[in-house]
Amino acid sequence: MAGKLTGAGIAAFRRKLLAWYRGAKRDLPWRRTRDPYRIWLAEIMLQQTRVAAVIPHYARFLDRFPAVEVLARSPVEDVLRLWSGLGYYSRARNLHRAAQEIVARHAGQFPSELSAALALPGIGRYTAAAILSITYGEPHAVLDGNVARVLARLDAIRGDLRAPARWRGLEARAQEILARRAPGDWNQAMMELGAMVCLPKTPRCDACPVRLWCRAAALGIAGELPAARAKPKPVRVTLAAAVLVDPRHRTLLLQSNAREAALFSRLWQFPAVEADGDPRTALALHLQNKFGLRAADCVPAGDSRHSVTFRQIRLAAFVVRVKRLPRIAGARTPKLAELHRLPISNAARKIAEQALRMLSQRPHS
Ligand code: SF4
Repeated sequence: MAGKLTGAGIAAFRRKLLAWYRGAKRDLPWRRTRDPYRIWLAEIMLQQTRVAAVIPHYARFLDRFPAVEVLARSPVEDVLRLWSGLGYYSRARNLHRAAQEIVARHAGQFPSELSAALALPGIGRYTAAAILSITYGEPHAVLDGNVARVLARLDAIRGDLRAPARWRGLEARAQEILARRAPGDWNQAMMELGAMVCLPKTPRCDACPVRLWCRAAALGIAGELPAARAKPKPVRVTLAAAVLVDPRHRTLLLQSNAREAALFSRLWQFPAVEADGDPRTALALHLQNKFGLRAADCVPAGDSRHSVTFRQIRLAAFVVRVKRLPRIAGARTPKLAELHRLPISNAARKIAEQALRMLSQRPHS
């Protein structure tokens, strides 16, 4: 049976995993470069987003912002617009701020020191280790959920991996087995193994290049590890949103406030209110209080579903025709058909699509 990986075993394990990675790795755009800017961008986009979704965004983003200097001097609104569809917009804001710091303090070069990298907005331990190992060959091991799962199975570790003491143990273990001569390839090999072979629910142990060293596989408990974490219960929310439309087909967009930021990612959004009861009544009251608009003018445009972390949101859209849009300091009044030119969240996009569909079917309602 496989014992704990030590000494000569670690050396053989490294050789086997690196050889497998170099032969089996997926051909991904960010694996064809060592340019720190491109690696950094990929690592940020890949946080909480699937590879297939990142690929087209990555290409478009680099077309528009081919170098860190271009990104740094561009308006944040352009960055957010290009980020549209990827979600978690704080990543884009931090990327933009970090680009400005890199240009101002590091002569346009992503810093190679861990402490300097960690001081940049949006760069945590995992991201810094990934960028520095891949671009500069610095010996920092990555640890994320994927790598933690692989390590937990290799060593047959039970219990909640995110418990602080256990996580620190995994960090130390990841650093111990790191192939210091090829840290970039090593980190990517561990991530690739977790993404392609050592899968969360059904590990493919029969196809695994390092099965020989895996205690969980030897014990027949690979599928039971790691222990499932207790998930927060989903919270159901109904959001009633008003798409105001004036005779020139312009609409009103507001900046989301702190409470709405969880739903609209601090991007432009339609006037909206959370509804405990009937969404139309709640919205009518909101519009009356806020803009002095009459309740009878809310025409339902249909519902759509949206989810943000543990929130399951019903988006109830209403079209409200007005002679004149309310004047609100800091608001935007774009044409409804041209919203794609502004950074809006996926939730706002769904609301706009519902309204446009309704207006095309009932142009005079
Ligand atoms: Fe994961 Fe199975 Fe490979 Fe062990 S043998 S590392 S459980 S895929």
